[in-house]
Amino acid sequence: MMRAMTNNDWMKVRADFPILDQQVNGKPLIYFDNAASSQKPRAVIAALAHYYEHDNANVHRGLHELSSRATDAFEGARMKVAKYLGASQTEEIIFTRGTTEAINLVANTWGVRNLRADDVILLTEMEHHSNLVPWQLLAERTGAKLRFVPVVDDGTLAFEPALLDGVKLFSFVHISNSLGTINPAAELCRAARATGVVTLVDGAQSSGHLPVNVREMGCDFYAFSGHKMCAPTGIGALWGRMELLQEMPPWHGGGEMIVSVTYERATYKQPPHKFEAGTPNIAGAVGLGAAVDYLENIGRSEIFAHDSELAALAVARLGEIPGIRVLGPSGQRGALAAFHAGWAHPHDLTTYANEHGLALRGGHHCTQPLMRKLRLPGTTRASFYFYNTTGEVERMAEILRAARKFFDR
Ligand code: PMP
Repeated sequence: MMRAMTNNDWMKVRADFPILDQQVNGKPLIYFDNAASSQKPRAVIAALAHYYEHDNANVHRGLHELSSRATDAFEGARMKVAKYLGASQTEEIIFTRGTTEAINLVANTWGVRNLRADDVILLTEMEHHSNLVPWQLLAERTGAKLRFVPVVDDGTLAFEPALLDGVKLFSFVHISNSLGTINPAAELCRAARATGVVTLVDGAQSSGHLPVNVREMGCDFYAFSGHKMCAPTGIGALWGRMELLQEMPPWHGGGEMIVSVTYERATYKQPPHKFEAGTPNIAGAVGLGAAVDYLENIGRSEIFAHDSELAALAVARLGEIPGIRVLGPSGQRGALAAFHAGWAHPHDLTTYANEHGLALRGGHHCTQPLMRKLRLPGTTRASFYFYNTTGEVERMAEILRAARKFFDR
């Protein structure tokens, strides 16, 4: 068994992120906007540079050395992602631009093929717009109906099996980006599976933060973005069960995804290539593979434990500041604390924080319907990753205490 990470180990890990070592507005940068996008370690930046300096070419088609190296690097990254998620086959990983594109892919392929008027798509009241708007578009197109699992006061879901009546697809977020709630994904998938409902899990906030094994989770689709887990922007993936992927029609048409083409029609490759038309983001995939190696080397359980410590400390410190109400569950939560400060608008507060070198995010966090339900104009969110420290959380509390004095006059 690996030994537990010490503070010293975490400081060494932090030193892998050159961007963190800078001053913003004359103060040491505290980067607490990780739920929006994470920073990149040297290993990932070096993998990108190495790819472009040595191996760059288009994949799959060329019979020359660089093309076969680029293909190996790209397909090698697919293997790493498959292993990282516990997929049964490498071919179950479809590279996409990220979570949003992965969900749109399912809506436009599985959804268009399987949904009819009055079928129900079950979502939750805490979904990011990227797990809401694609289903609204699909509902408009097919006549299917949307239904929502309610969110209750402590930021958890009030799920009951009766909500699955008439449902064809249940798509829900694993970890909420605006509440921090960790939904019981395996339990929800089990309930859905028992009634033949297909499940999609939005893993944007979970893929880099805790161990994920799609087979143990029991979902049918899992979508995530690389940029939230140390990889570059513009790359992510959809994992899907092979039986489902095989029956799904393609979405985008073009090069790479065909077997043969006449002027009239085309035949398609097997998954994943059927869903990857055009030149893919090869360097992005290489970077994602390097990020997966990097995270696995630290250990996702270690990362989860460290993130949880930061989140718990933040919730405790924020709770000590008069007029601040932290949203979300009181127990175990994801690596973030979003709060409402009665004495300042989130935009004013994040502007104030920025003047002190502290990167927070204020607004609706792409969950407008949830904000409306909570009757909030938005919230201020501090979101953490393993390279953040308890010292930074203490410094955030100091800045926010000073902000209260500044605004609450
Ligand atoms: N779902 C959740 C829960 C998210 O937090 C995000 C990103 N904020 C997304 C989906 C969309 O991810 P992307 O913009 O990378 O496609």
